[in-house]
Amino acid sequence: MRVRLAPSPTGKLHIGTARTALFNWLFAKSQNGKFLLRIEDTDQERSREEFTKNIINGLQWLGINWDEEPIRQSQRVNHHRKAIQQLLDRGLAYRCYATEAELEEMRNAQKKRGDAPRYDNRDRDLDPKKEKAYQDEGRTSVVRFRIDDGEIIQWNDLVRGQMTWKGSDLGGDMVLSRRSQPDKIGAPLYNLVVVVDDAEMNISHVIRGEDHLANTAKQIAIYKALGLNIPIFAHTPLILNAEGRKLSKRDGVTSISEFKDMGYTKEAMANYMTLLGWSVPDGMDEIFTTSEAAQVFSFERVNKAGAKFDWDKLNWLNAQSIHKWSAERLLEEISPIWARTNWNPPDKQWGLDLAELLGPSLTLINDAKEQSLPFFETPPIKDDGIKQIQLEDSQKALRILLEKLDQAPWDGLEEETAKNLLTNCSKEAGVKKGLMMKSLRAALFGQLNGPDLFSSWSLLARVDKDRSRIRRCL
Ligand code: GLU
Repeated sequence: MRVRLAPSPTGKLHIGTARTALFNWLFAKSQNGKFLLRIEDTDQERSREEFTKNIINGLQWLGINWDEEPIRQSQRVNHHRKAIQQLLDRGLAYRCYATEAELEEMRNAQKKRGDAPRYDNRDRDLDPKKEKAYQDEGRTSVVRFRIDDGEIIQWNDLVRGQMTWKGSDLGGDMVLSRRSQPDKIGAPLYNLVVVVDDAEMNISHVIRGEDHLANTAKQIAIYKALGLNIPIFAHTPLILNAEGRKLSKRDGVTSISEFKDMGYTKEAMANYMTLLGWSVPDGMDEIFTTSEAAQVFSFERVNKAGAKFDWDKLNWLNAQSIHKWSAERLLEEISPIWARTNWNPPDKQWGLDLAELLGPSLTLINDAKEQSLPFFETPPIKDDGIKQIQLEDSQKALRILLEKLDQAPWDGLEEETAKNLLTNCSKEAGVKKGLMMKSLRAALFGQLNGPDLFSSWSLLARVDKDRSRIRRCL
């Protein structure tokens, strides 16, 4: 069992491609098969090395690894040309000399008649004299593959079941290569190239998005013409936006690196993308790792209908994944965010403690930025904070607290000590403990919400940032 992902490096790793990659990978792992990568970089104008890097990094980030050295399609052009030559030699393909202007005219006439646009096969069986005349005129030609209108193309799709396409629905004889002089073969095009490469890579199952259905019909015709083994096909449902249309660039974030930059975790992304089109077997939790999913993955549980992208669900899964992390992992993920703002923890333990304190309240890793601010910088005092510290009892309570803190030679303030200290001060000031806590929170954070008060206070005390904040409130 050998499957492949064949991304074109004409953009960043798109969520649709990443989901296709996952389904391929999960299927390979579930069957002890191999997952391969082929970079379809033959379109020289649109392919860019930075996109290849982005795709590779994105797949690696998601934990999708390949079993053989990736193939670069551009290095295989001779194989593609050879296949085209074979088809020409056998009369299964031919040169078409129609100019762009002529084709345009043909399409306009079709439009006027209300016909679907298609090539009218005008250069099939071209009279050799006419061909010579075209060549003498200096016309270039594309190579076209014959698709008979009456041909019936069928396959049993692992997701969609029995599929049947009529040759007449495939747009007329298909272009295999771009324009060139008649003694050359121009740049080979997608449908031909994919067949040649998949066959030579011994791909047993082609798993890709449903937008390739018509291509599959065309490709099967090419497999037959070249006498190659036809792989098994599985077409995965499209990812749709909230309005039920195909998710596109217009929907904002669509590339994996963008999700990563926003603070989504690799676990949640892989988990969520697997759920986009696949449903868990009965009794299995919706939160799973890719290896857990690989143990039970099958195309029987892949839906035909498009999968709606649901931000709430992704956010929920993201929070769940972060909440499972150890302090070490939290620190590893959060420290780059601190580093970007030049926030330096005084020592590793302090960083670990802060990361662990913030972890449970994060939905996105990037939420750590805003939530970390009061631990590194003096936060502004917001309206609710001001109201709180202006209360007479607050002032009284904070004054006593500051006195105590100033007296003691504080070398760190453990949580337990902090709790006792606050209890004692509230008694001494004759102020309710609740009010005392609220006032201290307002002093430390400048507002009435934030993480656990005593752990936060302890962390701030360890870097001597608590007393100055109480002082400024007095
Ligand atoms: N390069 C094609 C794409 O990115 C590959 C499709 C396929 O899997 O054959 O859409």
